[in-house]
Amino acid sequence: MQWIGAGSTAVYKTPMEEKIFDLQDLKPGWVWLAGAGPGDPGLLTLYCVRALQQADAVVYDALVGADVLKLAREDCLLIYAGKRGGKPSAQQPDISARLIALAREGKRVLRLKGGDPFVFGRGGEEALALREAGIPFRIVPGVTAGIAGLAYAGIPLTHRDTNHAATFLTGHNAMGVVPDSVDWRALATGAPVIVMYMAMKHIEAICNRLMRAGRRADEKLAFISSATTADQRVVVTTLGEAAETARREGVGPPAIVVLGAVVGLHEDLDWLPAALADMEGR
Ligand code: SAH
Repeated sequence: MQWIGAGSTAVYKTPMEEKIFDLQDLKPGWVWLAGAGPGDPGLLTLYCVRALQQADAVVYDALVGADVLKLAREDCLLIYAGKRGGKPSAQQPDISARLIALAREGKRVLRLKGGDPFVFGRGGEEALALREAGIPFRIVPGVTAGIAGLAYAGIPLTHRDTNHAATFLTGHNAMGVVPDSVDWRALATGAPVIVMYMAMKHIEAICNRLMRAGRRADEKLAFISSATTADQRVVVTTLGEAAETARREGVGPPAIVVLGAVVGLHEDLDWLPAALADMEGR
């Protein structure tokens, strides 16, 4: 590798081959609460890869892909802590208790969640339980689906001509229903781009609320399902037709929904098909 401007050449080694960064180790008795990103292993952070290589136990959620788990040690304990979609989770205290018990056994524990652990991922609750139990922990951010999904669909989250703010919204609360705590009028008027997680189940109700609160029915909306995986699919429609389009096209979870003028850039910036074709031809 040539370092332009640095005046010297250096042999490039990947972080796997040589420790080129001084990263903390996942130590016995510790829990790392990490995000695995939305699917593509190329989006893992170095901390996450390190933790996968060092962990004695990995406690993972439904949205963590098999490709990512392949990086765990062969003798690692892989514990599934997935929940049934949309249902209120009775298991959450069990998961936290499990993490605490594993750490107290002196294990190096990786708690792995899809996307980012602190974005609609209940990471805060688990971190609070660890703090209360006196277990040392590190938070490892991940690339959240609402960022990566848009990027992989060629939809910029912000664009100078269209929006100077963006809002993340969850389509259901802890009880599995559309959150009442959301000020829909403020959202409709103050959030030019709205990125929605867990919105498929109640998509019709959500779209209706936004339209009742003043959003135009012809505004562009995109569904990005299984973002960053081999099954990624992008369906562009309008706010008024979203529910019907989702039904007709069979848009399934997991999916990110994005509403706003930036969706119009998808047509020009849809880079993924060419990148995938190029990979196949290599
Ligand atoms: N902590 C996660 C979000 C968990 S909530 C994150 O930061 O990404 C679960 C929701 O995330 C799903 O209902 C869906 O809306 C979204 N999601 C997660 N992975 C996704 C993917 N690969 N493609 C599309 N949406 C995804």
